[in-house]
Amino acid sequence: MSVTACDVLVVGAGPSGSLVASELHRLGVEVVVLEQRADASPGSRAIGVHPPVLAALEAGGATERILAEAVRIPRGIAVAAGRTVGEVRFDRRPSRFPFVASVPQAVTEAAVAAYGPIPVRGVRVVGVHPTPEGVHVHALDADGASRTWFARTLIVAAGASGRRLLSGLFTGRSRAYPDRYLMTDLSAAPGQPEGTAVITLGACGVAESFPLPGGRRRLVARIASDPEHPNAERAAGDGERLAEAIATRMLAPALAAHVVEASRFSIRRVLLDRMVFAGSVIAIGDAAHEVSPIGGQGMNLGLLDAATLAPVLAQARRCRQRRTAPDGDGSHRAALARWERSRLASARTAARLAAFNTSLGRPWPRRLASVSAAALDAALRTPLAGLPERAYAMGFDRAARGAADRLP
Ligand SMILES: Cc1cc2nc3c(=O)[nH]c(=O)nc-3n(C[C@H](O)[C@H](O)[C@H](O)COP(=O)(O)OP(=O)(O)OC[C@H]3O[C@@H](n4cnc5c(N)ncnc54)[C@H](O)[C@@H]3O)c2cc1C
Repeated sequence: MSVTACDVLVVGAGPSGSLVASELHRLGVEVVVLEQRADASPGSRAIGVHPPVLAALEAGGATERILAEAVRIPRGIAVAAGRTVGEVRFDRRPSRFPFVASVPQAVTEAAVAAYGPIPVRGVRVVGVHPTPEGVHVHALDADGASRTWFARTLIVAAGASGRRLLSGLFTGRSRAYPDRYLMTDLSAAPGQPEGTAVITLGACGVAESFPLPGGRRRLVARIASDPEHPNAERAAGDGERLAEAIATRMLAPALAAHVVEASRFSIRRVLLDRMVFAGSVIAIGDAAHEVSPIGGQGMNLGLLDAATLAPVLAQARRCRQRRTAPDGDGSHRAALARWERSRLASARTAARLAAFNTSLGRPWPRRLASVSAAALDAALRTPLAGLPERAYAMGFDRAARGAADRLP
């Protein structure tokens, strides 16, 4: 059986895999990407690209491509008991990107893939076998034929579904949340404030409305768990259910009238204990950590994994080529260990923040709803105000600390 050799092999051409491949390619590292899908995914999941990520994507030109299609969100408001109880002003942060850029995930994926290698599509990786020299990777192509690659470094960016490739190598903790949500993207959204994300909290659970490019809008609402369809992605009547949630919780019947269909999603928290195995298998993105989408950080976390990993691997390759560093392998391992510590810490912080957002979005006890609204209002007016801006703009990610995101 023939074996194709390469320096770095990436499994998965989602946002994390595409970005790490593009950055490695830009830094002169030979990289091959294997992707099971025949075409790029058209689905719109993540929409918010945060300031530290916009800063990290600039060198390869992806920021420019994203901003050309994005709508900028400089502000978000929290509404409870019929009044605005909090405001988050990204435009008051000392950042070169004082906004969250909103675009469908497919646009971000295309922007980060644009300067990388063309993925080998229709190839599903089925086995990963590390050896002292590197990693053997077994895959099946669309005809069921078996193919094998050998790489010095394997990056698994295969998302939540690809995590099974890591079993036996990595351990982790997983927790399913009881929460269920409905979501839709509307092409017209009357009465919604321009450039403003609106989060409505209260006795019925959260309802959210986010700007999308071209005057479109994403709506999300928490629903009670549905024992009849516990894991369904769609169920009859979901469009009506979402419309009712928008009409009653957001007091926006004109907006609700535009809702005709909705998809469902549930959430999980998965954190691997490590992201690097034996120096040669590296997990990034959702394969390494899955956080609740409520708070909008999952894709951003994976993009920052990718943007920070590429220079570490490129530096190791330069050392090997020049044979300058007598302890090249030792210093590479140390750099990789630092990267891993920093990304694990960032993932834990994002998971905690996502869990907090998720709990804030659960139904508030009716008798406490106005007390909770007043408490939230007071909290956002204390000297702690400013923390939410930082938290919701990924400002606590280690890659954002002292980062290029700040103004000079
Ligand atoms: C409803 C919803 C809304 C969300 N909203 C946000 C948001 O607003 N902001 C945010 O930051 N995040 C959000 N997220 C999370 C975000 O979508 C994910 O974090 C992001 O897609 C993870 O990117 P990834 O590249 O790590 O994995 P993925 O996007 O899952 O990509 C993995 C790729 O690997 C491929 N693959 C898998 N297994 C194999 C295999 N064995 N062989 C070959 N290829 C394989 C897959 O086909 C896929 O293309 C949301 C998620 C959901 C579900």
